Amino acid sequence: MNDANCLFCRILRGEISSHKVYEDEHVYAFEDIDPKAPTHVLVIPKKHFAGLNHARAEDAELIGRCHLVAADIARKRDIEKGYRTVLNVGPESGQSVFHLHVHLIGGRKLSWPPG
Ligand code: 5GP
Ligand code: ZN
Repeated sequence: MNDANCLFCRILRGEISSHKVYEDEHVYAFEDIDPKAPTHVLVIPKKHFAGLNHARAEDAELIGRCHLVAADIARKRDIEKGYRTVLNVGPESGQSVFHLHVHLIGGRKLSWPPG
C-alpha cells in the first residue's frame, strides 16, 4: 500500500510536512511546494502507485475520487471559470514524483496547448 522511499508516501506518513487542503479515507490534497499558479494543489490517492501508466481497473474509482476532490477544491476557491487538472505521466511529461498525483492549477488565465 505504502512505499518506504516515495516522497508522497512520506508526506502521507507525516515524515515530511505539507500544507493540507483536504483529506478523507482514500485521498489527500496539499499545496504544491513550487506553485505554478495562484491555486496549485496536488491531489493524491493514499494508495501508492507510480502513475496512470501503473493504474489498474480496480483503481478507476480512486482516480475518479482524486478528480472529484480537485473539482470540489476549485469550487470552494471560486476558480471555476477556468482551471486544469493534469496528470504528468512518465519522465518526458515532466513527471518527477512517481506516486500518481493530480495537479489542480488555476486562478489565472491558462494558455493552450500546455508546453
Ligand atoms: P510532477 O512533476 O511529478 O508532475 O509533480 C510533482 C510536484 O510535486 C511538483 O509540482 C513539485 O513542485 C511538487 N513537490 C515536490 N516535492 C514536494 C514537497 O516536498 N512538498 C510539496 N508540497 N510538493 C512537492
Ligand atoms: Zn507513494
